[in-house]
Parts: sequence; C-alpha cells; structure tokens
Amino acid sequence: TIRTRFAPSPTGYLHIGGARTALFSWAYARKHGGTFILRIEDTDVERSTPEAVQAILDGMNWLNLNYDEGPFYQMRRMPRYKEVIQQMLDAGHAYYCYTTPEELDALREAQRARGEKPRYDGRWRPEPGKVLPTPPEGIQPVVRFKTPISGSTSWNDLVKGQIVFDNSELDDLIVARGDGTPTYNFCVVVDDWDMGITHVIRGDDHVNNTPRQINILKALGATVPQYAHLSMILGDDGTKLSKRHGAVSVMQYDEDGYLPEAVINYLARLGWSHGDEEVFSVEQFCQWFDLDHITPSAAQFNTEKLNWLNNHYLKLTDNERLAEMVRPRLEVRDIKVSDSPALSAICGLYKERVATLNELADAAEVFYIDLHPEAALLDAQLSAEAIPAFGDLMQLFTTVAWDAASIGAAIKEVIGKHGLKMPKLAMPLRVMLTGQTQTPSVDALVALFPREMVLARIEKNLA
Ligand code: GLU
Repeated sequence: TIRTRFAPSPTGYLHIGGARTALFSWAYARKHGGTFILRIEDTDVERSTPEAVQAILDGMNWLNLNYDEGPFYQMRRMPRYKEVIQQMLDAGHAYYCYTTPEELDALREAQRARGEKPRYDGRWRPEPGKVLPTPPEGIQPVVRFKTPISGSTSWNDLVKGQIVFDNSELDDLIVARGDGTPTYNFCVVVDDWDMGITHVIRGDDHVNNTPRQINILKALGATVPQYAHLSMILGDDGTKLSKRHGAVSVMQYDEDGYLPEAVINYLARLGWSHGDEEVFSVEQFCQWFDLDHITPSAAQFNTEKLNWLNNHYLKLTDNERLAEMVRPRLEVRDIKVSDSPALSAICGLYKERVATLNELADAAEVFYIDLHPEAALLDAQLSAEAIPAFGDLMQLFTTVAWDAASIGAAIKEVIGKHGLKMPKLAMPLRVMLTGQTQTPSVDALVALFPREMVLARIEKNLA
C-alpha cells in the first residue's frame, strides 16, 4: 500500500511551492487509498521555530490537507537515529573520522591547487589491508558513511526520468557530527525507512541528495522508495518566485480573500494536467491525479488565473457562507454589519463581479457606513435636468412595492415622463447609494437597501 509524506523544515511559512508539494503527496495517497504522513524536519535548531511549525499546521489545516499519521518531529527521534548510526558502525557501513577542520581546509586547498574538485580523501576509511592512523587524543570524531567507491547510483524518477550519479562524485557523507547529532540526509533516510515511505514526492532541490540517501538505504537493507521530484515554480515573468509573485505564506491567501478550494484547484494545475480540464473539485483531483502527467519543466505562477478560479468558486458558494466569511473582514475595519441590508443579499448580488472576499467586503462596506459620495463624482453624473426627476422618483419610491421589478418599473416611468435616457438617472443614483458608478443593475441594487435608506441617501445628495 502507498505511503507518502510531506516533510517541511519549519524555518519559514508554508509557501505556495511547499503547499503544492504537500497537495501532490496527499492526493497521491488519497487516490490509492494509502497513508499520508506529516513529518516536521526540525533538526536545524538555529533556524527552526515553533511559530513556523504552527504556520505549517495552520496552512495544511486551511487547505484541508489532513494527514493520517504525525506530525512526527525529528528532534524527538534522536535516540532512534543514534541507534541506527551505531548499527551502521557495527556493520562496517560507517566509520569514525578524526580529520580536524584545519586538516580538511588544507586538503581542499591542495585539491583546488591541483585543479581537482574538493572532496574528502577517505584517510580514515577502513579498507581490507589498510593501516589506519592512530586516533588523536581529544578529538570528537564525526561518523562517515562508506559510500561505494565505484559504480553508479541511479533511479527512475517518476517525474524526471532516469537519473544517474557516478559514485565517484559522492564523497563519504558525514552522518553524525562530533557531538553525536545526526545530519540532515541521514535523518531523512531513517525516517523514510521507519515510516515505510513508498513514494517520496518533493522539490527538485533534493535531487542531489537522492543518490546519497539511496546508498544509505541500501546499506541498511531498506527498500528504496520511488522518487518524484517536482520542478520549481516560477513567477508570472519567468523569474524565480519571489514574495512579489505570491511566494508568500498560504495563509496570506486566506488573508487576501481567496477560498481554500480555489487555491487547491489552482495548485493542482500548477505543473500537472488532465487534458484541458481547468476547473475541478478536490475529490475529482484525487481520482485523476497521477505522477505521469506532472510536467518536468518549471511551472509558472499566474495570478490572473488564480483570480479567475477564485471568482468561479465565489459564485458557487452560497450567500450565507459568503456572508460569514465577509463579516469578519468588515468587522476588522470597524464596520458594524446590520441586518438590513442583509450581508448575504449583498454578497449574492456582488459575487459575480469580484475576484476575492476582500473585494466583496469593499463592495459591502458602503452599505453600512454613513456614506458621503465624492462631490466631484456626483456633480459629473447629476445633470440639472435630472434633479426634478429625482423628486418624482422619491415620490414613487415611497409607495412602490419594494422588489427589483417594481423598482425597475418606477425608474422607467420617471425617465419616460422626463424624457431622460436611463444613465442620466441611473448613474447619479448609483453614486448616491454606493459612492461608485460601477455597480450591479440599478433596480437590483436599489432593492438591496431598505426603502428608508434609499430615500435618505437620495435626499441627502439632492440637498
Ligand atoms: N525538509 C525538506 C525541505 O523542507 C524536505 C525533505 C524531503 O522531502 O525529503 O525542503
């Protein structure tokens, strides 16, 4: 059975690239009825923070990427790593190396001078018939892995195809430091082994680690998992994804008014495709997802497409739920949301026209504040001939049935009587009611407000 994992280092937010890696690992497990594991790789104690751990958990939770096992924390698994290091020493797969940093510097210096690539020269590596130096006093040795000297290490990457490294390129990796703490690649190997990971889906910045990890796994007698290395995500303009492009915390997308289902749909299509399908539910994605249709080339981030998808999902969301999500966005602006007009009705009328929940909040805001439309804007829209028409309009609005159809009929009656074209009345009316010229159809807009509010806003602006 399939077991996948997402293994973030808690040194920053869960950003868009990490979220996509998590999504693909999660979806692969879901598709095959497998197990998805969350593992926090917090061994870099200098750079790992509890806030970053929380940000990762929050991001996964917001995106609804639920894990079946974990979160496991590497810092809590230290005894296990040390145990495996001892096993490797006992089995002769690893050895103590007493080379001092100064000696290593001198070695590298000499290699560079000869035009060679700097690498550890294996001076403490035990070989049959080789006489090792006597361990010096007072030096805490590191533990090195005995990498195969000849041959090559290869795997069939499920995204990138066959990848081969010459073992001569890999020097004897340090698996434990002088103080006994295990190193990064070693912890990953022990975890992937202990957790029974069958498919490692991760960013392609780890391709160079893979042959080292495979060699250690083989030495341990472990089954080597399959690897799928995902290409990175570029910004709209083809350069490395930066903050400006959206390489921010996924929670920033929540903050900015995106729906998690839109972000998921967007991420799913970032470097993976199912024919021409652009819009699909997460359930559908889990059925369709496969590793064969991941593009080996870099994917480009496209904010317009994300906005388009978000608008699509906003339109699908029922008005009550939209109101629940928009309300706190108004409250943080110190805007008191009343029952009339109902926020859900406003959301229903405006959701066609906005890309985000924040834009929906912007649209809703004018319904709940003491609005003062810009004088210049109103003057530009309100012609002298329309002023008497507003008098008649107010009169009709006092008695007409309060629904969009009756309101529309009243407006038509007034423009007919005064020989006005629709915009002559509708545009200043929009400005009086919302402070803006861009609104949904004017009869639906008017009907959103309580009758008294409409009369008050017209009256105030005619005076
Ligand atoms: N902790 C690594 C990272 O955040 C991922 C390691 C892995 O997936 O093997 O880049």
